[in-house]
Amino acid sequence: VPVSARILLVEDDTVIGSGLLAALRTNGYEVDWASSGLEAMASYESNAHDLVLLDLGLPDLDGVEVCRRMRALRSGATIVMLTARQDEIEVVVGLDAGADDYLTKPFRLAELLARVRAHVRRPASVGDTTAPERFVVGELDVDVSSRRVHLADRELELRPKEFALLTLLVKEAGRVVTRERIMSDVWDEHWFGSTKTLDTHVSALRRKLAMHGLRGPTITTLRGVGYRLELP
Ligand code: CA
Repeated sequence: VPVSARILLVEDDTVIGSGLLAALRTNGYEVDWASSGLEAMASYESNAHDLVLLDLGLPDLDGVEVCRRMRALRSGATIVMLTARQDEIEVVVGLDAGADDYLTKPFRLAELLARVRAHVRRPASVGDTTAPERFVVGELDVDVSSRRVHLADRELELRPKEFALLTLLVKEAGRVVTRERIMSDVWDEHWFGSTKTLDTHVSALRRKLAMHGLRGPTITTLRGVGYRLELP
């Protein structure tokens, strides 16, 4: 049974919603179920959820709008969009709105549970107490114990997976980190979803590293191989 994480399930379909609720609880998670966007916002405002499973088609607010509002309120939770719409553009809109991942309906329950597990899992390599807890590359300072990242004197606000990804790249600064290793260390060794989520997270990291116009380290893509954080 996984360490109990608190999940907000946002689903207006009562058959799907009650099925997911039962499955998640059976797997040891604490779950709040909201069946509308406004109900979801109210629950999100008063509870510290680790993960949000967010249906895109809701009766009141659109899932994308709910995602934006949640991000504006608190950036810490992982948001996974559940969508019945196959249109890729809408998927990208979902990710632009600040979602960490998405699943297209119909999905297998095993797949959903694997994703949830991967997202709420704390990467063992990052939290290892025998390893140094602080990494400095040029102006970039990653403090693992306090979970804070500074570039020059500016603090960067990173989502959980972005932080884990950056920590791994910084630990291996100047060396190639393969996609397989990133997926296994930062996500889960049994990940069987799309690895597009990795590219999305790298893009978000690049944006944040360049955000203040400071000369932060750059992340080089080695096509088909992986990524490398460049030393200054
Ligand atoms: Ca729906």
